[in-house]
Amino acid sequence: MRVGVLSLQGGVIEHINHLNKLNVEAIEVKKIDDLKKIDGIILPGGESTTIGKLLRDANLLTPLKALIQSGLPTWGTCAGMILLAKEIENDTRRHLEVMDIKVKRNAFGSQIDSFKKIDIVPEVSNNPIELVFIRAPYISEAGKDVRIIHKVENKIVAAKQKNILVTSFHPELTDDLNFHNYFIKMVN
Ligand code: GLN
Repeated sequence: MRVGVLSLQGGVIEHINHLNKLNVEAIEVKKIDDLKKIDGIILPGGESTTIGKLLRDANLLTPLKALIQSGLPTWGTCAGMILLAKEIENDTRRHLEVMDIKVKRNAFGSQIDSFKKIDIVPEVSNNPIELVFIRAPYISEAGKDVRIIHKVENKIVAAKQKNILVTSFHPELTDDLNFHNYFIKMVN
């Protein structure tokens, strides 16, 4: 199994390290050829506007969208979730538009409002997990085929639709491997 991490901007190495800790081969995805080598892909956190622009500049937007629509297991964390959303409440831009969710960018406030929370996410583990939110989005509307995995302050912060997983928070910035393990099971 080989999992790609979209490596145009943002928190790439942290995802690669977590995958490696689970003995999964991880590669950086920067160009079209890289898409042929992977069984799943993680879209990391960072700045969705920047990553979206770089996706277009690298001619990756259309082939990546097609792969996700044909079933490639895909996980978007934070900015990655924004890239996958069909609707963005407070932005005129749209990117991959593959998941039936409407997201709100920077929805919990600005950088200074970044926060951590410890919660049990039964779908992923029976033990409490640290959830790290950094200028995080939340899902304000979800289509009927979207399964809600977790809410914080009554806002949807983790969800799944078929082969697509999204989290508002950053499991790669904690020592916890449960979310990566969950995604690897989706790839398997
Ligand atoms: N606020 C960023 C955006 O809108 C996402 C933040 C993150 O990925 N940590 O793209």
